[in-house]
Amino acid sequence: MRLLVVEDEPKLARFIQHGLTEESFTVDVARDGEEAVERATRTSYDLVILDLMLPRMDGFAVCRALRSAGCETPILMLSARGVVQDRVKALELGADDYLTKPFVFSELSARVRALLRRRQPTALLTLTVGSLTLDPITRVVKRGDRRVDLTQKEFALLEYLLRHSGQVVTRTMIAEHVWGFNWDRLTNVIDVYVNHLRRKIEGADEPRLIYAVRGAGYIIRDSDESA
Ligand code: CA
Repeated sequence: MRLLVVEDEPKLARFIQHGLTEESFTVDVARDGEEAVERATRTSYDLVILDLMLPRMDGFAVCRALRSAGCETPILMLSARGVVQDRVKALELGADDYLTKPFVFSELSARVRALLRRRQPTALLTLTVGSLTLDPITRVVKRGDRRVDLTQKEFALLEYLLRHSGQVVTRTMIAEHVWGFNWDRLTNVIDVYVNHLRRKIEGADEPRLIYAVRGAGYIIRDSDESA
């Protein structure tokens, strides 16, 4: 899943980005309010973490701008000020939750997951294709009874394919959602990662799951359902 972190303090932005990346989210960072609005209206994020005090446009103005542009992405506001009025105003402007700085990472992570679950009740359910399962909460991947160890990027790639199970996903879609940007030279990188992933999830005696679709991209599907 792809998240946008809007935070002007580089150290804190890196801390949040690093922690959420470790949890297999794809994380973009915007450093001011205008950049946040531009990115969030151009890209479909699953969640926005929005600092209140920002250069150019504060978090309240960003929240208002996004909601009036019809953007319904869940917003988690961050603020150094534990003022009740700020919290009320944020929620009135359409933020979904509010977290006061300083916070421990585990609380941020728990709030993010709670918001994702609230917005998309199926977002954190175990994903399955054939005998392969991926649990987005524990991040355990299994092929039958065999546990599969994946790197963060391999996990994010597999999760993306599974969320579009039975559909062709293009390399552009994969680049945007798993790597967080689109870059032509990423095509080769994606092919390399798909091959690594296949080697791990498709054992010698196990049915194939990931197929290349010539000129289009990749599809993950149960071989028994092949038409
Ligand atoms: Ca700030």
